[in-house]
Amino acid sequence: MGAERRFQALVQVAARRARTTVEDRRPHSERFGALTFSLEEAQRRLPKEVFQAYRETVHAGKPLDAGLAPVVAHAMKEWAMDEGATHFSHWFQPMNGITAEKHDAFLTFEGGLLLERFNAKELAQGEPDASSFPSGGIRNTFEARGYTAWDPATPAFLMSGPNGKTLCIPSVFLAYTGESLDEKTPLLRSLEALSRAALRLLQLLGRTEVERVVATVGPEQEYFLVDRALYDLRPDLVACGRTLFGAPSPKGQELEDQYFGAIKERVLALMADVEHQLVGLGIPVKTRHNEAAPGQYECACIFELANRAADHNQLVLETFRRTAARHDLAFLEHEKPFRGINGSGKHNNWSLATDRGENLLEPGDSPAKNLQFLLFLLAAVRAVHRHAGLLRATVASASNDHRLGAHEAPPAIMSVFLGEHLVALLDRLERGQASPEERGRTLEAGVCTLPTICRDSTDRNRTSPFAFTGNKFEFRALGSSANISMTNTALNTMMAESLDHLGDLLQAGLASGRPLAQAAAEALPALVREIRPVLFDGDNYSAAWQAEAARRGLPHERNTPAALGHLCSPASRALFERYRVLDARELASRQAVRLENYTKRVHIEARVALEMARTGVMPAAVGQLEHLGAAAARLEALALPAGAVREQARRTAELTERLGAAAGALEAVLPERAPHAGNGELQAAAEHCAGRVLPALEELRQVVDALEELTDDGLWPYPKYRELLFHL
Ligand code: ADP
Ligand code: MG
Repeated sequence: MGAERRFQALVQVAARRARTTVEDRRPHSERFGALTFSLEEAQRRLPKEVFQAYRETVHAGKPLDAGLAPVVAHAMKEWAMDEGATHFSHWFQPMNGITAEKHDAFLTFEGGLLLERFNAKELAQGEPDASSFPSGGIRNTFEARGYTAWDPATPAFLMSGPNGKTLCIPSVFLAYTGESLDEKTPLLRSLEALSRAALRLLQLLGRTEVERVVATVGPEQEYFLVDRALYDLRPDLVACGRTLFGAPSPKGQELEDQYFGAIKERVLALMADVEHQLVGLGIPVKTRHNEAAPGQYECACIFELANRAADHNQLVLETFRRTAARHDLAFLEHEKPFRGINGSGKHNNWSLATDRGENLLEPGDSPAKNLQFLLFLLAAVRAVHRHAGLLRATVASASNDHRLGAHEAPPAIMSVFLGEHLVALLDRLERGQASPEERGRTLEAGVCTLPTICRDSTDRNRTSPFAFTGNKFEFRALGSSANISMTNTALNTMMAESLDHLGDLLQAGLASGRPLAQAAAEALPALVREIRPVLFDGDNYSAAWQAEAARRGLPHERNTPAALGHLCSPASRALFERYRVLDARELASRQAVRLENYTKRVHIEARVALEMARTGVMPAAVGQLEHLGAAAARLEALALPAGAVREQARRTAELTERLGAAAGALEAVLPERAPHAGNGELQAAAEHCAGRVLPALEELRQVVDALEELTDDGLWPYPKYRELLFHL
């Protein structure tokens, strides 16, 4: 065997050419949303009164009148069939990070006749055999029923396959007891809570015309691509999404010739293919470029309402996964597919907007707008300060553990960057000082002076996990493979709590007869003092910051088992219960699902590593020893010097011995049976993975990588880093 298949794959890669897969060259704007049951489509297909009720449902999230649902279902089916659909599916996001679909044909027998039908019940509710979805103990398998319910706020869409389409009904997934079993339900609840709290504060500021506040989110998706033929020869990439072994490539990213470089043709062909599909699905995909590491890329959509952004990011991932194969590529969404070069994140740009599209984190040009801006800004900072541990917990996963704190990603300490200008402003606010030297303007009653706040987006700190970037916050700790829902659920809910806190402060001042500006001016200094510890504008990658953060009492959880503890902390429980976003059981189930997922992933990695070490690496080392031994014997028979050959053989033999020992040690710490949820074993099992299994895996890796650097290239079975990263 040896390296033969590897070399064949490289020959295959060299012969590949970019594929033209997009025939339709109409402008994107013309095709935007063509594969969605948009309001325009609904208007064309529904009787007028039904359409009006349907529009209400979509806009206000009001339930659709049961009498009208059959008409809507029928129209949707007619549209879908006109577009070539044969099946429908409720499309939902269970707690395992993927999106789930179970397809049903439109077919029914009616009086002996086989017909295409789609009824109101099928639209409104589905009942997947849900016993295999993780529930973290909410459902027992003997009462496995869960159901999916149509979420009309997101339009139904058509998913295209090579031989037909499926009508997808965006849905939530609930247990029959009403508890949420998915990522979307809590996100929708958090948006309600956020809107209520924001409206209350706006009303105190006199903004009574605003009727709804939403969270806007624009995720920037990073990913890697490798050639499919090379990928298929790496069991670790296939099973774990990351390389468990691999000596560093002699050339990495040090020449900085990848970032924003010219995009290779095959990659560009894939990007354009994906974009073409996303545009059809009504996803406003905007940017594409090479990222810092070789083989790494980024794709970003224009921001949208948080729940849509979450759906759409799932579709972006799915579309890339599916389409990559058509271009003989493999899409790697793992946070750290390769050691020694950058990993992939998903910067979560987040802000608040009114129903009229006014960005509430946009500094204004009038004193009143500035006060509004400052209050929303400070509420966000306070939220992160109070719930730093929770925010950290929402990004915790086996894969993201390899990235956070790895010197190209923010550390696991949650802090906020505001920029020099805003920090100076907060300094003055804290001292209760006006700012005579700036072009400050007097607030209403002339009690306090706030300077005009200018957008300070030039001085961006790329190392901060939570950075203010002029009119939004950019949260950078989220991993590339994560579903963005839980993070945004937490952000929205903690923001609601802080907005309510500011509302309380203002209301107390107003109640005692103070004018608004004075009430605000009196409340702000204490608020600034309170949030001060979470503000950090320096280098988040430095060791000094870790020490400083510890002095400030900021949590620093280094791995997933530790971080997940914050999900169910008293503070998190109180927060989510107060805003009815997640109750204690729902929270506990999320912690359990995540702990279990972490443990399972680590176990899979360990098993794959063992297999590769014993069935791929060991034979290569033995082959090398045979060659070297035979060569040394011959040389000595001919009385020729054999020192170098013997030396190479000696080092190989030593490493081979270590390989056996390291594999044995890893096997020894692998438990024989999987832990079970609900009996307290999960936490211990996850900690065992972090404390024992991963270090043993690391030891094995050290040996394998050393062997790779020593072994005959013609014997090494697995594509090497230099091949995976540069042959495409
Ligand atoms: P960068 O320099 O970080 O690439 P961009 O301005 O290109 O910054 O924005 C990156 C992402 O932030 C995009 O997805 C963009 O749509 C999103 N974004 C911009 N404004 C907002 C906002 N108000 N709320 C949420 N996301 C936003
Ligand atoms: Mg950005």
